[in-house]
Amino acid sequence: MGYIVSKFGGWANADSGRVKIAADLFEMKPDRKIKVNSAIGKIKDLPKVTDLLSDGAEATIKKGVFPEDLIEKIRLNHYYVFEPLGISKKKIDEVINILYDYIKMKKELSDDHFRALMMGAGEELFSRLDTVYLKEIRGFNAKYVDPRDIGHYLMGHPLDGKVTKEAEENLKKLLDIEGIIVYPGFFAIDKKNRPMIYSRGGTDKTAADVSVAIGASVYENWKEVDGVYSADPRVVKNPVLMEEVTYKEIRELTYISFNVLHQEAMLPVMNAGIPINLRNLTNLEHKGTFIVNERKINLDRPVIGIAHIENVCFINIEKCLMNEEIGFANNLLKIFEEHRISIDQITTGIDSMCLIVSEKEFKEKTVHSGVSEQIRREIEPEEFMRWLKENLDADLVQIRKKKGLICVVGEGMRHTIGLLSRISVALSKNGVNIEIIDQGPSERNIIIGVDLEDDKQLAKKVVNIIYNEFF
Ligand code: ASP
Repeated sequence: MGYIVSKFGGWANADSGRVKIAADLFEMKPDRKIKVNSAIGKIKDLPKVTDLLSDGAEATIKKGVFPEDLIEKIRLNHYYVFEPLGISKKKIDEVINILYDYIKMKKELSDDHFRALMMGAGEELFSRLDTVYLKEIRGFNAKYVDPRDIGHYLMGHPLDGKVTKEAEENLKKLLDIEGIIVYPGFFAIDKKNRPMIYSRGGTDKTAADVSVAIGASVYENWKEVDGVYSADPRVVKNPVLMEEVTYKEIRELTYISFNVLHQEAMLPVMNAGIPINLRNLTNLEHKGTFIVNERKINLDRPVIGIAHIENVCFINIEKCLMNEEIGFANNLLKIFEEHRISIDQITTGIDSMCLIVSEKEFKEKTVHSGVSEQIRREIEPEEFMRWLKENLDADLVQIRKKKGLICVVGEGMRHTIGLLSRISVALSKNGVNIEIIDQGPSERNIIIGVDLEDDKQLAKKVVNIIYNEFF
C-alpha cells in the first residue's frame, strides 16, 4: 500500500476555510503523505497570483521594473488567506520578500527562464506559508520540500517543461522524509539549475509525476465539485455523477470539452495504474469520481458521458482518384502542421476527406517552438483554403463554419448492438439533421456533427436528446 498524494489547486488555496479543511484531511487519514499545492487562485476582485506574477515578469522584461502595485496585490492575496489562520503579517511579508530576490535574478537569466522563475513563485509562497500553518498552528510534523533541492528536473521549453528520468528517480527520495511533505506544484529546474515550469495549470502534472515516482496508492485531486458528471450541468439538468470512469473515456471527453485535469497529467498515472480520485473539498462525505484503467461495465448503461463543442468548422477536400495518390494525406496534414492548426477529427471517403477543426485554431495564438515562445498570427481561413487547394491540386476545398460536435463516450458501447440506431432514431424523431457521424475504431466514442447556423443551441439540444435516451 503506497501513500496518497493530494493536490490542492488555486480554488482550494484561495480561502482560509478551505486551507483549514485541507489540513483536517491529513489528520483524518495518516496515509496522506504529500500535499501538492498550486498558487492562490481567484479571490474576489484580485487577479490570480500566477497572473500577477506573469504580468510583473513581462513588465520587468520590457521596462526593467517589477511594478510594486503587483507585489502589493500578491501580498493582499496572502494576507487574505493566511491572516485568519493565525499567521502574522510580519511572517507573510518575510515570505513575500523572496520575490525581491528573484526579481534581481533577471540579469542572469534568459527572458523565458526569468518568466518561469517568477510565475512559479506563487506555488512557493503559498507552500511555504502553508507549512508554517501546518507546523506552527496545527502542530503537524510538516516539511516544505523544494523541487530545486530534490532535483525535480524538467526538460524542453522553460515554460512547458516535461519531466525527466532523473526527476523520477530523485522524487523517490520524498519517501525517506518523515511526516507530511508540502510540495509546491508547477515549478522546477532543468539540469543546469535554470528555472522551469510545466505549462499553465501544471500543478496537476507535478502531482502526477510525484505520484508515479513514489508509487502512490491514489492521486487525490480536491476540487469544488463532487466529481465528473455525465454531461455538463449547465447543459443538462442534474446529470448523473460518474463513480468510476476509465482514463480512456475521460480522455475522449476532455478532448472535446470536459475540463477535468491537465491533459498531460493523466498519461503517466494511467501507465502506472494509479487511480485518480477527484473529490469535493466542501463535501467530504462524497467519495467523488475515480479515474481508473479498467472498470466494471454496466451493459444497461453503455454510455458514460456526453460532451459537446461549438464553433468548429468542417473543411471538405475533394480530389478525383485521391485514394490512389500515395502521400496525399501526409501532404495535407503537413500543411496543417506547418501552420500550427490542430485537427480534431478526420472523416474520409474514397475521393474526399473532411477535417474538423476548431474555429479558434485560425486565431492568433501562442506557440512554443524550439527554445522560444512565438505568437502565430491570425490565419485568414478563406485564403488558407485557396492555398490548400493549390498545393494539393485538389478539385475542391471548402470550409463550412458554425458547426457543433457532440461526442458520446462509453466503454460499454463496444458491447452494445444497435447503439448507433438508438442515437439516430432519437435525433430524427426530434428533427435533427446529422451532418457527419464517426465512430472511433476503439468503439468507445461516436462523434456527431451538426449545423448551428439556424439554431445556435442545437448542439446543446442534441446533448439533451442523447442524454435522455441513455440515462
Ligand atoms: N498556478 C499555475 C497556474 O495558474 C499552476 C496551477 O495552478 O496548476 O497555471
